[in-house]
Formats: sequence, structure tokens, C-alpha cells
Amino acid sequence: MSKANSLILLADLDDPEAARRPLETAAEALRTRSPAELVNDVLASGLRGRGGAGFPTGIKWQGVAGAEAEQKFLVVNGAEGEPGSYKDRFLMKRLPHRVVAGSILATYAVGATKGYIYIHHEADDCRAAIEGAIEDARALGLLGENVLGTGFSLDLQTHPAGIGYVAGEETAVIRVLEGGVAKPKPKPPYPTVRGLWGFPTLVNNVETIANVEPIVRNGPQWYRQFGTSDTPGTILVTLHGVKKPGVYEVEAGTPLSAVINEYGGGPRGRILAVLPGGYASGFLSPEELDVPLEHASLRARGSALGSATIHVFDESQCIVEVTRKVLRFFAVETCGQCFPCRKGTRDLYQLLDEAESGSAREDWDGAVDGILQLTGRKTICGLDKASSLVFKSAYQRFASEFRDHLSSNACRVCSSGAGGQ
Ligand code: SF4
Repeated sequence: MSKANSLILLADLDDPEAARRPLETAAEALRTRSPAELVNDVLASGLRGRGGAGFPTGIKWQGVAGAEAEQKFLVVNGAEGEPGSYKDRFLMKRLPHRVVAGSILATYAVGATKGYIYIHHEADDCRAAIEGAIEDARALGLLGENVLGTGFSLDLQTHPAGIGYVAGEETAVIRVLEGGVAKPKPKPPYPTVRGLWGFPTLVNNVETIANVEPIVRNGPQWYRQFGTSDTPGTILVTLHGVKKPGVYEVEAGTPLSAVINEYGGGPRGRILAVLPGGYASGFLSPEELDVPLEHASLRARGSALGSATIHVFDESQCIVEVTRKVLRFFAVETCGQCFPCRKGTRDLYQLLDEAESGSAREDWDGAVDGILQLTGRKTICGLDKASSLVFKSAYQRFASEFRDHLSSNACRVCSSGAGGQ
């Protein structure tokens, strides 16, 4: 699998001549293709959402396209609150025309007339780049009333994302756009049925939308030559804990070890553990790194592709300390609406804090079991399950490191004063 032939999203990155080509693709498609043909292209491509859950994009498009309503909306989700992830900001800043062209194609396909590009609240450079591309699209007649004589009307604008991790959850995104607080709402109803102001709404992540223009330009069969049957196409990964950290485009199905070594230049030390999909995925041990980077294979190992934010931890770090820091993040970011999440994330963090500092209560294991039963209950969004997944994956794979901490505080890292990352 060569790096050179696996590029879809970043192929034109250093070619200023090609920067506006996505808008030409959009114009051509609006003139010559029906909305249903574009929905079928995305369905046939097998594209899956790149925001974390990996839901089939074409199914979402079909749902909104088939809904009867006097108004429909598109929301492009660029909140990117996952710690360490900056692939969506990379796309918005460096390839804004591709994001805007994908947004135009999506609204046309599903019958929406208004689109919001929801951008991380501190990413002024991304907002400026996207607004510049929106103006370029307007100058080409791709926005406004009766676009290119098609009878289709569209307006696109940017909107600052709410603050915090859950502000990127799709129902929280809708609440923020409606002027409310950034807290998830129960589903159903799903946004495809009742979204913004009660109307059917397509919510797609920035990277998902950026894939649309190459699919429409080259066809779904071309797209499917990349990646795997489970996860077609390429994935933008954000790599940390390697010699060459950064954003890379890799073909789905590439072994995780190849991503770390060939793209990232190798780990900074002997690998202790890897989180392949951001904080909301499970830890993998060094023996598991031949796993293909795709949804099914990672899920089968008790982990997840998530946002493809890959954290590589080396042996200078302590797994108990690393897990404690991840749980602290979830304990801070819980919005508090659901009891299992509000209590579970904080109690798990507290127990890890005790373990890490060598002051674990006598029935530490019993207390953990009690919390894990609590966090198995139904909650509004996935944060609660994510926190228990990451905890369990560490506790199961690194039992002896946990026992060292619990029994004698004899961790080889912490007792030497080295601490975690
Ligand atoms: Fe909020 Fe947690 Fe419930 Fe999600 S699971 S809505 S973050 S309390």
C-alpha cells in the first residue's frame, strides 16, 4: 500500500492551481446531475462518517433526502473537541474549497437550502479560510437564489462551536445553533427527522463532507478501490507520541504499526500502549499493533477508530497515570445530565487517583465493579460508555501494572519519580 497512491483528500494540498477545482466539480454536478444521483454516489461509495461513530453517510443522506418538509438544513460539524485532534481544522484551513464544495453538493442532494459550518470557537484561521471559500462560491454563482438556473437555492455561513467536548455531539450542535446550551438531547428523534428548529437536518463531520467532492468527481467505484470493504477510502489520522507527529492521510486498513513507523517515523521509545481513536477508544498493547485501521477490526479488539487521533505512549510513562489523565478529562467534560455519567466518570477518576498515589481504599476492585455496573446503564450520549471503555481496556491489558500500584505502590515509573506524560 503506497503512500503516493492512497491520497484522496490531500492530493491537491500543494497545488495552488487545483485549489478551486472542487467548486468547478460542484458547478458541473449541479448542471448535469440530479439530487438522487448524488445520494446514490455517496451510498455506493460506502463512505462512513469521520466524526467518530462511523455511521454510513449515504444512509443519513437518504434519510434527509426522503423526508417531507418545507425546510431542511445541513450542519458541517467542525467542533473537533477531541484532545489532540486537528485534522478537521487542517482541512478547513488548507482545503476550504473542498469543504465548501462538499457542503454545496450535500445540500443540493438532500434538498436543504441553508447550511452552517460549525467551527471550533478558537479557530479564527479556519473560519477566515472557510468564509473566503464561501465568497469564491458566491462569485461563481453557486450560492444564492436559483443557483445556475437549477431552481435550487442555498445559503452557507459559519457559526462558532460551543465550548467543551460534548459541544461536538450532533444534538448538542443543534442546540448551540438554536441559541441554547451545548448539551446533548435524547435520541430519537434523530436530527435527520427532527433537527434544527424541528426540521430534518443532515449533520456531517468536516472530513466526511470533504470526501464528497472527490467521490462525485471520480465516481464511487474509483473511491472504493481505496481502503477496505468495512471502511472504504482513506482516513486522516492525527499522530502523537511519535518522532514525526502530525496529520497524515492513510488508506483505511493500513496496519496501525505501519502508520506509527512509516508515517510517524516510529515511536519515541519502546511502546507501552496505543490509543488508536482518541480518548474515546480503548488501549491496545504492543502485541496488537498489526490491527488494520478500520472500524470492524478495532471494534473486535475492544477499541474503536473514533476520530483517528492516535496517541502512542512509551515505557517512560505509567499506564495508571495515563488512564487517570484520560478519566480526569471525561470527569471534567461530562455535562452532568445523566446520573451514571456524572457519578461514574468522577468516581472512576477518584479511584484512579487513589491507585496512582498509592492510597487505594481496601475494596478498590469492588468499588470499580460497582461503578462499571452503573456506567452500563442508558445515557443520552456516548461519553459515559467511552470513559468505561478506556478504563476497562487499561485495567484488563495492564493488570500487573495496576496491581503494582494497588499493592505496594511499586510502579517502575512512578516510584522512580519519573511520573506520567
Ligand atoms: Fe452529558 Fe454524560 Fe449524559 Fe452525555 S452521557 S449527556 S455527557 S451526562
